[in-house]
Amino acid sequence: DEAETILAVNNVEVIYNHVILVLKGVSLSVPRGGIVALLGANGAGKTTTLKAISNLLRAERGEVTKGTIEFDGERIESSSPSDLVRRGCIQVMEGRHCFGHLTIEENLMTGAFTRRDGAANVKRDLDMVYGYFPRLKERRGSMAGYTSGGEQQMTAIGRALMSRPKMILLDEPSMGLAPQLVEEIFEIVKKLNEEQGVSILLAEQNTNIALRYAKYGYILESGRVVMDGEAKALRENEDVKEFYLGVG
Ligand code: ATP
Repeated sequence: DEAETILAVNNVEVIYNHVILVLKGVSLSVPRGGIVALLGANGAGKTTTLKAISNLLRAERGEVTKGTIEFDGERIESSSPSDLVRRGCIQVMEGRHCFGHLTIEENLMTGAFTRRDGAANVKRDLDMVYGYFPRLKERRGSMAGYTSGGEQQMTAIGRALMSRPKMILLDEPSMGLAPQLVEEIFEIVKKLNEEQGVSILLAEQNTNIALRYAKYGYILESGRVVMDGEAKALRENEDVKEFYLGVG
């Protein structure tokens, strides 16, 4: 049902370089205001799925060759990435992708490039971002390239928030970070979801933490969804435990 579903991916196929079939008919949906996890091993197709949604495949010589994608009630397969940002759907890329030679605050401000609602509103949102990430406020004048991995991940999420998104596609936020910091970041993401109503599609190899914060999960293997269900049910599933949670 349209009002309740913010993102619907239907039977999407992705081919790289005209020959390499990587997504073999992926379907998933995210309810408005929900947190959904996209799980799977390295190479399963998580990043490709997010990039198919945000139309970032072209730079990698990839294309969606089948299926449909709907965001907020509209088909988006042919929307450009910046058009999608304007509509409220933004991706936080794997590996953070900050501008290393800009300060944290300058990085955050680059996230407001699609805004047309004036400096006062942008300033208010910058304060909102600093409210969620006090650490970024402390380090606002530091060059992003010299800050820690955790601070860069926070900057990347904060930058996305500056576009006032309805939905964030979050690619592997735990990557390369210490467990304590991963927890800190997930807590903030949860608060953003609850307080700002931002819907989240979260691609994670860290099944354990993802299923603690998401309400629902999809497991990808070789470009196919092999299992999906409520997070609680997945956590208790014997196969998930054995293959993805490291307890057999
Ligand atoms: P990771 O955790 O490494 O991001 P993933 O689940 O996100 O893994 P993808 O990055 O989507 O997986 O990759 C899925 C498959 O597509 C892999 O087999 C990968 O080698 C292949 N692939 C990714 N990008 C390209 C590309 N530009 N050209 C060809 N094949 C690619």
